[in-house]
Formats: sequence, C-alpha cells, structure tokens
Amino acid sequence: MLEKEEVDSPHLEEMMNHYRGIITLLGEDAEREGLLKTPERVAKAMLTLTKGYHMDPHEVLCSAKFKEEYSQMVIVKDIDFFSLCEHHMLPFYGKVHVAYIPNGYITGLSKIARVVDIFSHRLQVQERMTLQIKECIQQTLNPLGVMVVVEAKHMCMQMRGVEKQNAITTTSDFTGAFNQAKTREEFMNLITYR
Ligand SMILES: [Zn+2]
Repeated sequence: MLEKEEVDSPHLEEMMNHYRGIITLLGEDAEREGLLKTPERVAKAMLTLTKGYHMDPHEVLCSAKFKEEYSQMVIVKDIDFFSLCEHHMLPFYGKVHVAYIPNGYITGLSKIARVVDIFSHRLQVQERMTLQIKECIQQTLNPLGVMVVVEAKHMCMQMRGVEKQNAITTTSDFTGAFNQAKTREEFMNLITYR
C-alpha cells in the first residue's frame, strides 16, 4: 500500500493558496483558528490521494514477474480501494477482485494489490479504472486471460442524494479465456459468498 510519508511537491504552496481562496468563496473566514491550517492539510491530502500519477504500475508487475508452469486460475479477491471520482472529486470506494490464468508467468500476489492502489490514487471513473487494471496485467504478464470486477459506492451519489443511498456499482472487464461464460462463472462463484 501507499506509504504515508510527507508529500513533497513543488506545487504545494500554490495549491494552498487556491484552497484558501475556495474557503473564502464558500463564505468562510479562512483566517479563523480552526481553518488556518486547513488549506495546507487539504493540499497535502489531495497530493497523497493522487500519488498514483507518479507511479508506474507496469514496472511494479515486471519487477515481480516469475516463470512458473502453474496454469490454473489465480484469484486475488477483496482488495480494498479508495479513489476520487473525476467528476466531483469525491471518494468512491469498495473492493476489486482480480483473476488471471498464467501463461508461463505469475506475479507476487501483493503486486496485484499495488497495481490497484496506483490506478485508484488518480482522478478516476470506475469503468476506466477497471479497464486499466485489466490492461496492465494483460500487457505485463501476458496471461491466457484476465478478469477484473470492481464493486464500489460513490460518495457523489450518496452525499448528494442522487440515487439510492446504498447503491453499489459493479463493473467488470476481461480478456482471453474469460470470453467463455463458463470461465467467468467459475470466477464469479468464487468471489460471491455473501
Ligand atoms: Zn462523481
């Protein structure tokens, strides 16, 4: 997972100024005690939440790519993620499930979670994040097939009361062997236990 180290950005100061301006435009007194350090905290939080722009998920997978004859389905389920929707910059969060069928190469299981972490720490839409995780694994490991399922709740829907408060949005994408309904079913059966 992403380390919580201090963020270091040449834009921090400028971002703080913008957030100070926004707080003022909202009708608040940016100089009152409780808000004095808020622009700095918000700027640092945003830099941390969008840290994925400076990380290369392909490199993460390639750095832990091992030759292995195993050719059954490998499943990593219930990977927690938190992201920001690019339309409202509000959180959407939930779980990612990944399955792939190796074609001579496997990767460390924690690396799949790292890939999810990197793509989720950018401004996203759930559909694109699903596709990007799928493509990254397909391109680096070249498996016989990969499938990604993402289940998420969107704060921009929940907080603004746009839809049912507890609606869960599910997206999925797949390649290769997962074009067969039977293979998809096997994966879906293994991740749905609720
Ligand atoms: Zn949104």
